[in-house]
Amino acid sequence: MADSATAPACAARALIEELTKIVGAQHVLTDEADYGPRLIDNRSRLHGRVDCAVRPANTSQTAAVMRAAKALGALVFTQGGNTSNVGGATPVSSNAEAPRLLLLTDRMRAVEVIDTINDTVLVQAGCPLSELREAAALKGRLFPVSLAAEGTCTVGGILATNAGGVHVLSYGNTREQCLGIEVVLEDGRILDMLRGLRKDNTGYDLKDLFIGSEGTLGIITRAVMKLRPAPTDTLVCLMMLPASSALAPSFSALSSAFAESLTAFEVMHRDTVVHVSRVWPEVTQSIDLSHPWYALAEISVADAKNVVARQALLEETLAELFERNQIADALLAQSERQKSELWRVRESIPEAHKKTGGNVKHDISVPRSSLVAFVEETNALLKALFPWIQPSVFGHFGDGNLHYNMGVCEGSDPRLCFLNEERIHEVVYEQIARFRGSVAAEHGVGRFKHDLLACVKTPAEYALLRAVKTAFDPQGRLNPGAVVDALPAS
Ligand SMILES: Cc1cc2nc3c(=O)[nH]c(=O)nc-3n(C[C@H](O)[C@H](O)[C@H](O)COP(=O)(O)OP(=O)(O)OC[C@H]3O[C@@H](n4cnc5c(N)ncnc54)[C@H](O)[C@@H]3O)c2cc1C
Repeated sequence: MADSATAPACAARALIEELTKIVGAQHVLTDEADYGPRLIDNRSRLHGRVDCAVRPANTSQTAAVMRAAKALGALVFTQGGNTSNVGGATPVSSNAEAPRLLLLTDRMRAVEVIDTINDTVLVQAGCPLSELREAAALKGRLFPVSLAAEGTCTVGGILATNAGGVHVLSYGNTREQCLGIEVVLEDGRILDMLRGLRKDNTGYDLKDLFIGSEGTLGIITRAVMKLRPAPTDTLVCLMMLPASSALAPSFSALSSAFAESLTAFEVMHRDTVVHVSRVWPEVTQSIDLSHPWYALAEISVADAKNVVARQALLEETLAELFERNQIADALLAQSERQKSELWRVRESIPEAHKKTGGNVKHDISVPRSSLVAFVEETNALLKALFPWIQPSVFGHFGDGNLHYNMGVCEGSDPRLCFLNEERIHEVVYEQIARFRGSVAAEHGVGRFKHDLLACVKTPAEYALLRAVKTAFDPQGRLNPGAVVDALPAS
């Protein structure tokens, strides 16, 4: 009989044997050298451990993997592109006994069917977001979720985190793109909800429970996603704002002029743009870095015949803002190259911070009308406590969602922000409560905000979240340690 020390090793060996029967030896990775980078989160803050990684080719193999995992009591950590900003995909758990399995979706990456009458796409969970966007574009359609990690993150990942990105303002987040979903449950049952319906009021929406569930309720294997008409052109401009008080009026002016054609309105504080310029001077070379705030606006034009008229309206709107001193200057891109150069400033921000040691991050939202007050009050509170602090603020003003991150002023010890991380979080999250905002606007809860969730939900909400988790995963084997824990067995 196996003693207590060898039992976990025996269970892990048995799991590997079972998985090998299901997917073949070449798709069960047992050597850490083959999956090592997947044990570390995108911000290099967590280091997990598993007994093996498995790469099922399709839904039925995923179901068989889940049955084997259940039989052996294995913990299952599902991973797409491993771009989670909240440690959601890293296999860290306090349960040291159970065998651990990293389930990779990278072999399930096909765009199966594009229906140009229903304007939908049936796509597998491991498909990288950029490949889905490219496949849609080939059919003259747009899949509107777009974010800086789109070359790596997957359809399953954006669904499991209900990702936002830069076009939520006009198209909504990932939840709003999804019509149907296929999920493998913890016991291997397949939940086929792959309906491409825009109307379906048949009781509770189970599909919606899995969107944003971060691998804790089931494994998403396929989805039916909405497609939109592809715009024929876009207008892109970078506005230089003289003060934070100009953020709301410049947004309102463009929003009134262009309504839903305003497909992005991203803001960046000067210190954030200056930080990018220190890391990659060439990225910001066309920008005067002396303005307090910058706003990057994108307007989509559906019909090529309207481009000239839309450009004239944009120029008129900018001129009015200029006359009212609500913008100091603006750069209107004149070519595709200039558009990408302006977008590159915004998209380089996360990588620039990563390259210089990172900062203390908050992915927050408050009502758009309170956003400026939130930033100014919270900056003042933090500066009073920590004179060395340097906020790096940027994000999706149109969605009331900012990445409100804290680093250190030039010349200060970069470790200071991490040494004071807890107190910084406390100040920010108290302010979020005061403004009735969210502590996890678009990146999800993952492991980094698991404990915070209990504090920001009412006791009744939190109890229901745990009841939902327990209903789908009674033994707490799916991505344990992320989002919320199952209730103890009674
Ligand atoms: C540079 C950069 C920019 C980013 N910008 C944005 C942004 O603008 N907006 C935004 O919302 N996010 C952004 N993110 C965060 C990240 O890209 C998203 O959270 C993304 O949706 C995760 O996709 P993924 O495939 O990498 O998932 P992973 O990181 O692998 O996993 C994320 C979570 O989803 C679960 N999961 C993954 N696949 C499945 C599946 N098939 N079934 C069930 N659960 C699954 C995992 O268990 C985990 O909990 C950014 C990240 C980076 C690095």
